[in-house]
Amino acid sequence: MKLGSPMEKGRILIYSNDFKKHDPQPFSHPENPGRLDKMMKGLREYSILQHLKLLKPSHGDPRMFQEVHSKEYVDYILAARKKVEWIDMDTYISPGTSDALKALSGTAHMIPEGIMRWDQIIILPRPPGHHAGVNGRALGAPTQGFCIFNLSALIAQLLSKKGYKVGMLDFDAHHGNGTQEIFYGRGDILHVDIHQDSSTIYPGTGFPCQSGVGEGKRTKININLPPGSGDDIFINASERALDLIRAHDPDVLVVDAGFDGYINDNDMVSLMITSSSFNILGRKLMGLGAKVVVIVEGGYGDGLLKGLPSFIFGLLGGEDPVNDSPNVSSEIVWKEYLARLKEVEEVLSGKL
Ligand SMILES: [Zn+2]
Repeated sequence: MKLGSPMEKGRILIYSNDFKKHDPQPFSHPENPGRLDKMMKGLREYSILQHLKLLKPSHGDPRMFQEVHSKEYVDYILAARKKVEWIDMDTYISPGTSDALKALSGTAHMIPEGIMRWDQIIILPRPPGHHAGVNGRALGAPTQGFCIFNLSALIAQLLSKKGYKVGMLDFDAHHGNGTQEIFYGRGDILHVDIHQDSSTIYPGTGFPCQSGVGEGKRTKININLPPGSGDDIFINASERALDLIRAHDPDVLVVDAGFDGYINDNDMVSLMITSSSFNILGRKLMGLGAKVVVIVEGGYGDGLLKGLPSFIFGLLGGEDPVNDSPNVSSEIVWKEYLARLKEVEEVLSGKL
Protein backbone atom coordinates (compact mmCIF):
# COMPACT_ATOMS: atom_id res chain seq x y z
CA MET A 1 0.00 0.00 0.00
CA LYS A 2 1.32 3.45 -0.92
CA LEU A 3 0.99 5.89 1.95
CA GLY A 4 3.32 8.58 0.59
CA SER A 5 6.66 9.72 1.91
CA PRO A 6 6.91 11.43 5.33
CA MET A 7 8.22 14.68 3.83
CA GLU A 8 5.46 15.23 1.28
CA LYS A 9 2.75 14.51 3.84
CA GLY A 10 4.22 16.25 6.91
CA ARG A 11 4.05 13.15 9.09
CA ILE A 12 6.23 13.24 12.16
CA LEU A 13 7.10 10.72 14.87
CA ILE A 14 8.68 12.16 18.02
CA TYR A 15 10.69 9.76 20.15
CA SER A 16 13.62 10.02 22.56
CA ASN A 17 15.62 7.39 24.43
CA ASP A 18 15.49 9.84 27.36
CA PHE A 19 11.84 8.80 27.78
CA LYS A 20 13.23 5.46 28.98
CA LYS A 21 15.12 7.03 31.86
CA HIS A 22 11.91 7.18 33.91
CA ASP A 23 12.51 3.72 35.33
CA PRO A 24 10.99 1.88 38.33
CA GLN A 25 13.93 -0.51 38.86
CA PRO A 26 14.57 -2.26 41.25
CA PHE A 27 10.75 -2.36 41.52
CA SER A 28 8.58 -3.92 38.86
CA HIS A 29 5.76 -1.78 37.49
CA PRO A 30 3.43 -2.01 34.45
CA GLU A 31 4.49 1.49 33.35
CA ASN A 32 8.15 0.83 32.54
CA PRO A 33 10.65 1.59 29.74
CA GLY A 34 9.83 -1.71 28.01
CA ARG A 35 6.54 -0.10 26.91
CA LEU A 36 8.45 2.13 24.49
CA ASP A 37 10.24 -0.91 23.05
CA LYS A 38 6.83 -2.50 22.47
CA MET A 39 5.55 0.64 20.70
CA MET A 40 8.59 0.73 18.40
CA LYS A 41 8.42 -3.03 17.83
CA GLY A 42 4.77 -2.75 16.78
CA LEU A 43 5.50 0.12 14.38
CA ARG A 44 8.49 -1.74 12.92
CA GLU A 45 6.68 -5.05 12.57
CA TYR A 46 3.93 -3.52 10.46
CA SER A 47 6.37 -1.40 8.38
CA ILE A 48 5.04 1.95 9.55
CA LEU A 49 8.27 3.71 10.50
CA GLN A 50 9.26 4.41 6.87
CA HIS A 51 6.14 6.51 6.42
CA LEU A 52 7.05 8.86 9.27
CA LYS A 53 9.88 11.34 9.73
CA LEU A 54 11.53 10.48 13.05
CA LEU A 55 12.50 13.49 15.18
CA LYS A 56 14.32 13.45 18.51
CA PRO A 57 13.48 16.35 20.83
CA SER A 58 16.28 18.31 22.47
CA HIS A 59 16.06 19.08 26.19
CA GLY A 60 13.72 21.89 27.18
CA ASP A 61 12.97 23.53 30.54
CA PRO A 62 10.43 21.43 32.48
CA ARG A 63 9.29 24.61 34.26
CA MET A 64 7.24 25.27 31.14
CA PHE A 65 4.78 22.77 32.64
CA GLN A 66 3.73 25.60 34.96
CA GLU A 67 1.49 26.56 32.03
CA VAL A 68 -0.82 23.75 33.20
CA HIS A 69 0.40 22.72 36.69
CA SER A 70 0.89 24.78 39.86
CA LYS A 71 4.40 26.06 40.64
CA GLU A 72 4.37 24.10 43.91
CA TYR A 73 3.62 20.84 42.11
CA VAL A 74 6.28 21.44 39.44
CA ASP A 75 8.88 22.30 42.15
CA TYR A 76 7.98 19.15 44.06
CA ILE A 77 8.37 16.93 41.00
CA LEU A 78 11.65 18.53 39.92
CA ALA A 79 13.39 18.10 43.31
CA ALA A 80 16.49 15.89 42.83
CA ARG A 81 16.11 12.19 43.66
CA LYS A 82 18.84 9.65 44.39
CA LYS A 83 16.59 6.60 44.22
CA VAL A 84 13.09 5.60 43.13
CA GLU A 85 10.46 7.38 45.22
CA TRP A 86 6.74 6.63 45.32
CA ILE A 87 4.61 9.77 45.24
CA ASP A 88 1.50 7.62 45.78
CA MET A 89 0.56 3.92 45.67
CA ASP A 90 0.69 3.82 41.86
CA THR A 91 3.17 6.45 40.79
CA TYR A 92 6.97 6.62 41.01
CA ILE A 93 9.71 9.13 40.24
CA SER A 94 13.22 7.88 39.54
CA PRO A 95 16.59 9.66 39.32
CA GLY A 96 16.30 9.60 35.50
CA THR A 97 12.78 11.06 35.46
CA SER A 98 14.17 14.61 35.20
CA ASP A 99 15.85 13.81 31.85
CA ALA A 100 12.59 12.30 30.58
CA LEU A 101 10.74 15.47 31.65
CA LYS A 102 13.34 17.65 29.90
CA ALA A 103 12.77 15.66 26.70
CA LEU A 104 8.98 16.05 27.18
CA SER A 105 9.49 19.82 27.49
CA GLY A 106 11.63 19.82 24.34
CA THR A 107 8.82 17.92 22.60
CA ALA A 108 6.17 20.44 23.66
CA HIS A 109 8.46 23.25 22.53
CA MET A 110 8.56 21.84 18.96
CA ILE A 111 4.80 21.75 18.42
CA PRO A 112 3.56 25.37 18.12
CA GLU A 113 6.09 26.10 15.32
CA GLY A 114 6.05 22.62 13.82
CA ILE A 115 2.28 22.55 13.45
CA MET A 116 2.56 25.03 10.57
CA ARG A 117 4.50 22.48 8.47
CA TRP A 118 3.29 19.17 9.86
CA ASP A 119 -0.16 17.66 9.43
CA GLN A 120 0.16 14.64 11.70
CA ILE A 121 2.40 14.48 14.73
CA ILE A 122 2.71 11.26 16.71
CA ILE A 123 4.47 11.39 20.07
CA LEU A 124 5.58 8.27 21.98
CA PRO A 125 6.28 9.83 25.39
CA ARG A 126 6.97 8.59 28.92
CA PRO A 127 5.99 9.07 31.68
CA PRO A 128 2.31 9.34 30.68
CA GLY A 129 0.33 12.43 31.64
CA HIS A 130 -3.45 12.49 31.24
CA HIS A 131 -4.19 11.75 34.94
CA ALA A 132 -1.97 14.62 36.15
CA GLY A 133 -4.05 17.67 37.11
CA VAL A 134 -3.16 21.15 38.31
CA ASN A 135 -1.65 19.90 41.59
CA GLY A 136 -1.09 16.25 40.71
CA ARG A 137 -4.11 14.14 41.73
CA ALA A 138 -7.12 15.39 39.78
CA LEU A 139 -10.86 15.64 40.49
CA GLY A 140 -10.53 13.63 43.71
CA ALA A 141 -8.77 10.62 42.13
CA PRO A 142 -7.05 8.30 44.64
CA THR A 143 -3.65 8.48 42.87
CA GLN A 144 -1.95 10.00 39.82
CA GLY A 145 -2.19 6.69 37.95
CA PHE A 146 1.47 6.54 36.78
CA CYS A 147 1.32 10.14 35.43
CA ILE A 148 3.71 13.01 36.24
CA PHE A 149 3.40 16.00 33.87
CA ASN A 150 0.49 16.43 31.47
CA LEU A 151 1.99 16.72 27.98
CA SER A 152 -1.27 16.79 26.03
CA ALA A 153 -2.66 19.59 28.21
CA LEU A 154 0.57 21.58 27.79
CA ILE A 155 0.49 21.15 24.01
CA ALA A 156 -3.19 22.15 23.89
CA GLN A 157 -2.43 25.21 26.02
CA LEU A 158 0.57 26.29 23.89
CA LEU A 159 -1.42 25.91 20.66
CA SER A 160 -4.34 27.79 22.14
CA LYS A 161 -2.05 30.66 23.19
CA LYS A 162 -0.76 30.79 19.60
CA GLY A 163 -4.32 31.40 18.43
CA TYR A 164 -5.23 27.91 17.24
CA LYS A 165 -8.68 26.55 17.99
CA VAL A 166 -8.07 23.31 19.87
CA GLY A 167 -10.17 20.19 20.33
CA MET A 168 -9.16 17.20 22.43
CA LEU A 169 -10.09 13.53 22.18
CA ASP A 170 -9.03 10.94 24.78
CA PHE A 171 -9.70 7.28 24.03
CA ASP A 172 -7.56 5.69 26.72
CA ALA A 173 -9.60 3.13 28.70
CA HIS A 174 -9.28 5.37 31.79
CA HIS A 175 -10.77 8.85 32.14
CA GLY A 176 -8.33 11.70 31.35
CA ASN A 177 -9.17 13.39 34.64
CA GLY A 178 -6.01 15.51 34.76
CA THR A 179 -6.56 17.10 31.37
CA GLN A 180 -10.24 17.59 32.08
CA GLU A 181 -9.52 19.27 35.43
CA ILE A 182 -6.97 21.63 33.85
CA PHE A 183 -9.49 22.88 31.26
CA TYR A 184 -12.67 22.40 33.34
CA GLY A 185 -13.62 26.09 33.27
CA ARG A 186 -12.45 26.72 29.70
CA GLY A 187 -15.16 26.93 27.03
CA ASP A 188 -12.69 27.30 24.15
CA ILE A 189 -11.24 23.79 24.55
CA LEU A 190 -13.62 20.93 23.80
CA HIS A 191 -12.50 17.71 25.52
CA VAL A 192 -14.27 14.50 24.58
CA ASP A 193 -13.27 11.46 26.60
CA ILE A 194 -14.25 7.87 25.79
CA HIS A 195 -13.45 5.48 28.65
CA GLN A 196 -14.61 2.44 30.59
CA ASP A 197 -17.60 3.20 32.85
CA SER A 198 -16.29 5.46 35.58
CA SER A 199 -17.96 3.48 38.36
CA THR A 200 -16.00 0.35 37.41
CA ILE A 201 -12.41 1.54 37.02
CA TYR A 202 -9.67 3.93 38.21
CA PRO A 203 -9.78 6.96 38.60
CA GLY A 204 -13.54 6.85 39.41
CA THR A 205 -14.18 10.15 37.61
CA GLY A 206 -15.56 11.04 34.19
CA PHE A 207 -19.33 10.60 34.55
CA PRO A 208 -21.44 12.31 31.86
CA CYS A 209 -22.68 14.91 34.38
CA GLN A 210 -19.07 16.07 34.98
CA SER A 211 -19.23 18.37 31.98
CA GLY A 212 -17.28 21.47 33.05
CA VAL A 213 -18.07 24.64 35.01
CA GLY A 214 -18.82 28.27 34.10
CA GLU A 215 -17.73 28.95 30.53
CA GLY A 216 -16.54 25.35 30.34
CA LYS A 217 -20.02 23.94 30.96
CA ARG A 218 -20.95 21.25 28.39
CA THR A 219 -17.50 21.30 26.75
CA LYS A 220 -16.15 18.35 28.77
CA ILE A 221 -17.95 15.33 27.37
CA ASN A 222 -17.59 11.90 28.95
CA ILE A 223 -18.75 8.86 27.01
CA ASN A 224 -18.78 5.79 29.26
CA LEU A 225 -18.29 2.24 27.93
CA PRO A 226 -19.61 -0.56 30.19
CA PRO A 227 -17.21 -3.44 30.96
CA GLY A 228 -17.48 -6.01 28.18
CA SER A 229 -17.86 -3.38 25.44
CA GLY A 230 -16.54 -4.60 22.08
CA ASP A 231 -15.77 -2.96 18.76
CA ASP A 232 -19.37 -2.15 17.82
CA ILE A 233 -19.83 0.01 20.93
CA PHE A 234 -16.39 1.59 20.64
CA ILE A 235 -17.11 2.61 17.03
CA ASN A 236 -20.52 3.99 18.02
CA ALA A 237 -18.89 6.05 20.79
CA SER A 238 -16.15 7.26 18.43
CA GLU A 239 -18.74 8.42 15.90
CA ARG A 240 -20.58 10.40 18.57
CA ALA A 241 -17.26 11.93 19.70
CA LEU A 242 -16.36 12.85 16.13
CA ASP A 243 -19.75 14.54 15.61
CA LEU A 244 -18.98 16.78 18.58
CA ILE A 245 -15.44 17.47 17.36
CA ARG A 246 -16.71 18.33 13.86
CA ALA A 247 -19.22 20.78 15.36
CA HIS A 248 -16.38 22.41 17.36
CA ASP A 249 -14.33 22.62 14.12
CA PRO A 250 -10.82 22.75 15.63
CA ASP A 251 -7.68 23.79 13.75
CA VAL A 252 -5.78 21.17 15.74
CA LEU A 253 -7.07 18.03 17.42
CA VAL A 254 -4.91 16.85 20.34
CA VAL A 255 -5.48 13.14 20.89
CA ASP A 256 -4.67 11.16 24.03
CA ALA A 257 -4.35 7.75 22.47
CA GLY A 258 -4.56 4.88 24.93
CA PHE A 259 -4.43 1.26 23.84
CA ASP A 260 -5.21 -0.35 27.21
CA GLY A 261 -8.78 -1.05 26.03
CA TYR A 262 -7.34 -3.56 23.54
CA ILE A 263 -8.65 -7.00 24.42
CA ASN A 264 -6.42 -8.72 27.01
CA ASP A 265 -3.81 -5.92 26.91
CA ASN A 266 -3.62 -5.92 30.73
CA ASP A 267 -5.60 -6.97 33.81
CA MET A 268 -6.72 -3.45 34.80
CA VAL A 269 -9.33 -2.92 32.04
CA SER A 270 -12.41 -4.91 30.95
CA LEU A 271 -12.95 -3.73 27.37
CA MET A 272 -12.73 -5.95 24.27
CA ILE A 273 -11.56 -3.57 21.56
CA THR A 274 -9.53 -4.97 18.64
CA SER A 275 -7.22 -3.58 15.96
CA SER A 276 -10.21 -3.11 13.66
CA SER A 277 -11.69 -0.28 15.77
CA PHE A 278 -8.38 1.49 16.29
CA ASN A 279 -7.76 1.44 12.54
CA ILE A 280 -11.24 2.78 11.74
CA LEU A 281 -10.84 5.56 14.30
CA GLY A 282 -7.43 6.50 12.82
CA ARG A 283 -8.93 6.77 9.34
CA LYS A 284 -11.86 8.84 10.61
CA LEU A 285 -9.45 11.25 12.32
CA MET A 286 -7.50 11.61 9.07
CA GLY A 287 -10.74 12.58 7.36
CA LEU A 288 -11.51 15.40 9.82
CA GLY A 289 -9.52 18.07 8.02
CA ALA A 290 -7.82 19.26 11.23
CA LYS A 291 -4.15 18.85 12.04
CA VAL A 292 -3.68 16.02 14.52
CA VAL A 293 -1.24 15.68 17.42
CA VAL A 294 -1.30 12.18 18.93
CA ILE A 295 0.13 11.59 22.41
CA VAL A 296 0.27 7.91 23.38
CA GLU A 297 -1.00 7.32 26.92
CA GLY A 298 -1.86 3.80 28.23
CA GLY A 299 -1.28 0.38 26.72
CA TYR A 300 0.95 -2.29 28.19
CA GLY A 301 0.94 -5.41 26.01
CA ASP A 302 -0.84 -6.26 22.77
CA GLY A 303 -2.45 -2.83 22.74
CA LEU A 304 0.97 -1.36 21.94
CA LEU A 305 2.08 -4.22 19.70
CA LYS A 306 -1.12 -4.35 17.63
CA GLY A 307 -3.59 -1.56 18.54
CA LEU A 308 -1.06 1.26 18.15
CA PRO A 309 0.19 0.23 14.66
CA SER A 310 -3.39 -0.31 13.46
CA PHE A 311 -4.36 3.16 14.66
CA ILE A 312 -1.33 4.89 13.14
CA PHE A 313 -1.80 3.03 9.85
CA GLY A 314 -5.39 4.29 9.80
CA LEU A 315 -4.24 7.82 10.55
CA LEU A 316 -1.99 7.57 7.49
CA GLY A 317 -4.92 6.37 5.38
CA GLY A 318 -4.10 2.66 5.38
CA GLU A 319 -6.28 -0.35 6.18
CA ASP A 320 -5.81 -2.46 9.28
CA PRO A 321 -2.53 -4.38 8.95
CA VAL A 322 -3.27 -6.55 12.01
CA ASN A 323 -6.69 -7.66 10.87
CA ASP A 324 -8.29 -8.85 14.13
CA SER A 325 -11.91 -9.99 13.83
CA PRO A 326 -14.11 -7.38 15.54
CA ASN A 327 -15.75 -8.29 18.87
CA VAL A 328 -19.52 -7.93 19.16
CA SER A 329 -20.94 -6.65 22.47
CA SER A 330 -23.75 -8.51 24.22
CA GLU A 331 -27.29 -7.15 24.29
CA ILE A 332 -27.09 -6.32 27.99
CA VAL A 333 -23.86 -4.35 27.52
CA TRP A 334 -25.46 -2.42 24.65
CA LYS A 335 -28.46 -1.60 26.82
CA GLU A 336 -26.21 -0.24 29.55
CA TYR A 337 -24.13 1.73 27.04
CA LEU A 338 -27.19 3.38 25.49
CA ALA A 339 -28.45 4.38 28.94
CA ARG A 340 -25.13 6.12 29.65
CA LEU A 341 -25.11 7.73 26.21
CA LYS A 342 -28.58 9.12 26.92
CA GLU A 343 -27.09 10.96 29.88
CA VAL A 344 -24.53 12.54 27.54
CA GLU A 345 -27.33 13.72 25.25
CA GLU A 346 -29.17 15.16 28.27
CA VAL A 347 -26.03 17.07 29.26
CA LEU A 348 -25.65 18.44 25.73
CA SER A 349 -29.29 19.51 25.54
CA GLY A 350 -29.05 21.25 28.91
CA LYS A 351 -31.42 18.87 30.72
CA LEU A 352 -28.72 17.48 33.04
ZN1 LIG B 1 -5.29 3.99 30.74
